[in-house]
Amino acid sequence: MASTPSLTQSFEVTVVGGGLGGLTAALALRQRGVRVTVLEQASELGEIGAGIQTAPNASRILLGLGLRAQLAAIRTEPLDQVRRRWKDGSVIGLTPLGEFCKRNYNAPYWHYHRADLHRVILNACVDPNGPGPVVVVRTDSKVTGLDRTDPARPVAVTADGTRYAGDVLIGADGIRSAVRDLMGAPDTLEFSGEMAFRALIPGDLVAADPATRWLVDRYQSTIWYGPDRHLVHYMIRQGEFLNVVGCVPCTDEVAEKWTVASSAEALVEAFAGWDDRVPAMLSKAKEDVACFALYHRRRDPVWMDGHVALLGDSCHAMLPYQAQGASQAMEDAAVLAEELGRVTGAGIEGALRRYVDRRAKHAGMVQEASVRNMAFYHLPDGPEQEARDELLRRGFTGESD
Ligand code: FAD
Repeated sequence: MASTPSLTQSFEVTVVGGGLGGLTAALALRQRGVRVTVLEQASELGEIGAGIQTAPNASRILLGLGLRAQLAAIRTEPLDQVRRRWKDGSVIGLTPLGEFCKRNYNAPYWHYHRADLHRVILNACVDPNGPGPVVVVRTDSKVTGLDRTDPARPVAVTADGTRYAGDVLIGADGIRSAVRDLMGAPDTLEFSGEMAFRALIPGDLVAADPATRWLVDRYQSTIWYGPDRHLVHYMIRQGEFLNVVGCVPCTDEVAEKWTVASSAEALVEAFAGWDDRVPAMLSKAKEDVACFALYHRRRDPVWMDGHVALLGDSCHAMLPYQAQGASQAMEDAAVLAEELGRVTGAGIEGALRRYVDRRAKHAGMVQEASVRNMAFYHLPDGPEQEARDELLRRGFTGESD
């Protein structure tokens, strides 16, 4: 049975991957008194230059980790989410966010620059004045091997041969997880056939043009629905950037390379024929436009084996059609820390099993709903699309878990 949590647990956890999922797990474990080492393959920790949103389910977890003041300095709060038809921009749905979320879900809906959010969580992990033992972060540490000679002390082996033994090993190493392969989990990777254009458009350019000024007058989150593609945009850093994500059919080059640098011209071209407000906005993108192939993982309940477990994209990479990938990783982190924080060394395997029991079903439902949303968002013009728009007008917001 679970024992009382103590501020200094006797065991240690190795987290492979210092992305949003791995760092949130490290921070949540630290706060339960667990000693954590994060192994990150990159020479510097960070995130790509793009926006990210946390719905109340994830904002609540971040606030629960004591980050209120730090998040207040980096977040932008949208008033509502507006849904528009591709051809004429007519409003087909309006979902209140802002105060509505705080009142009804007791947590906010927030937008951030990814690098800001990542930095806030990292700083809390390594802050010497925080609760519990400081998280040790090792960069330039690509995990390429796993030694389970002693099943209770899994050892992560990095490319240079360094060995990191711990009582628990968590694979938070993203969609192409090495830990997942090393633990022998099934290959569940799938290609959606789509790619996402991502761009950060300078807010001052948007504000200076009467044709796009409306974007900064209200902090709205906007989704445009069109045949076989859709476009999402919202402000981050209080208007410093307009974050844009455009999901379209994937080119062969992007499917093969996963990430390819692109241009404002290609982005405008991808949405040719859409309402005039769309090219007016997209043409302001600068040189940092890029395309990302949208791969995801099939639902899979195999997240652990003995003292090794997966978290985040390594076990439930999902399409971004609910903006929930990192948020689900944060939910994983909170539950993992809760379960591990309750046990002593002998109870680790049971704690990991409870973690998977509590998380895999829900994350799997979100994965599947995100796949269904791809078809729902991209209906061709015609009766099915009209029926969908009618649903949106009545307040339906797409598939959710
Ligand atoms: P990652 O972010 O991939 O981090 C994995 C880390 O592990 C990386 O730092 C990597 O370098 C490291 N690593 C990999 N292999 C090794 C190894 N062998 N050894 C050591 N380190 C290794 N989610 C949301 O919640 N809200 C959103 O608004 C949202 N928008 C999105 C928009 C788009 C277009 C896309 C594509 C996704 C979006 N997501 C969103 C999903 C979200 O980005 C991911 O689900 C999330 O970043 C996954 O976090 P992670 O920590 O599991 O993996």
